[in-house]
Amino acid sequence: MLLRHTPTEIKERKALTVNPAKTCQPIGAMYASLGIHGCLPHSHGSQGCYAYHRSALTRHFKEPVVAATSAFTEGASVFGGQANLLQSIDNIFTVYNPDVIAVHTTCLSETIGDDIPQIVAKARADGKAPAGKYIIHANTPSYVGSHVTGYSNMVKAMVDYFATSTGAKTKAVNLIPGFVEPSDMAEIQRIAEVMGVPYIMFPDTSKVLNGPLTGKYKMFPEGGTTIEDLHMTGDSKGTIALGRTGAMAAARALDSKCKVPCEILDLPIGLQGTDAFVDKLRLMAGVNVPDVLNLERGQLVDCISDWHQYLYGKRVGVVGDPDQVLALTKFLVSLDMKPVHIVSGSPAGKKYVKALEEVVADIGEEVNIKVPGDMLLFHQWIKNDPVDLIIGNTYCKYIAKDEDIPMVRHGFPIYDRMGHSYFSTMGYRGAMRLMEQILGVLMDRQDRDATDITMELVM
Ligand code: SF4
Repeated sequence: MLLRHTPTEIKERKALTVNPAKTCQPIGAMYASLGIHGCLPHSHGSQGCYAYHRSALTRHFKEPVVAATSAFTEGASVFGGQANLLQSIDNIFTVYNPDVIAVHTTCLSETIGDDIPQIVAKARADGKAPAGKYIIHANTPSYVGSHVTGYSNMVKAMVDYFATSTGAKTKAVNLIPGFVEPSDMAEIQRIAEVMGVPYIMFPDTSKVLNGPLTGKYKMFPEGGTTIEDLHMTGDSKGTIALGRTGAMAAARALDSKCKVPCEILDLPIGLQGTDAFVDKLRLMAGVNVPDVLNLERGQLVDCISDWHQYLYGKRVGVVGDPDQVLALTKFLVSLDMKPVHIVSGSPAGKKYVKALEEVVADIGEEVNIKVPGDMLLFHQWIKNDPVDLIIGNTYCKYIAKDEDIPMVRHGFPIYDRMGHSYFSTMGYRGAMRLMEQILGVLMDRQDRDATDITMELVM
């Protein structure tokens, strides 16, 4: 009963967040940086921030996350972090020899006002950055936005620093995923591959944060988008950005920098979400949908039709990042489930909230939506109006335990379950997995609560 003091009486709060449904910007920037091959993320701030960012990613992905820090002490906090960053750049290239250093700022260095491009220019002038090596940066003040904002900022930095246009268009389609699992990135790539679409995905954390155990430590794993590919994104015939808050900024920047037209879609979660992605890919690349995808789609439709009776009418509370929440809510509504309490901690704008409201407009129930909102409010809503299921990150488990509600872990962070880095919830196959997870916890609950008389062998 860890949250037993949560009151049922809801009071309007403007200046206080309790149990935030988000983490800080640099975590997203660090995650995005790991999706570049040969890149060492660098946290420009104190060791405390850096340790938190690394440990959050390590605990979620169950993989060692490498990064560097400017290691601010009192002096840097007062006089600025230039000397620390210059020393870091020198040390990093000398000791670890990455192809790229991706610098993100923290609250402290942002408040001081460190000018990263100026410091990097000085590092180059002082000979601390070898020729052929890159240093990119993103400003990621954590007193605005969330880990999704930081991710978006760093992905846009990849465009700002690397995308070039030679004037000769290729047949490739750029795929920009939002803040999703490495397994989701791999599934999105697999769909493009079976459709025969040449693509460049950036960032790409598959085989980086879900790589194989080989017995040999590699500081820079096989995966990640190569610098060469990042340069070539400017020559691609189009871009598909998956998620407005995580991927849209980079796609728009690429359009204005290199005239690569972009389409912004929801994350491919569920039947309609995946259909939209597959169809856009088909049209953009001028290909046909292969039998293997039609088979997977048909299997998903079969699962929906077989399992619908168990899902119909179930009331759900959803917490997560904006792109995840919107796509997930659409999927739940399409299954005739009722997402009645919806919270995202990341700011996403009025248009986003309107889109969410439209999705749930016809479910036949009053729906609570708060973006940005926090977990305290989410818990209060549930106390006043209980649900059958909670879908959200690991922090939801305290609410689920206190209120005795089945829960499916989804989103970021997931600290207390395994497999999310390896098993996608995107695409047709991912939708089946997600439904299976939902059905599993609902049926486990039914079994748990059954009496000797009502216990069913076949449910
Ligand atoms: S001080 Fe800012 S950047 Fe550092 S961990 Fe806290 S929120 Fe994140």
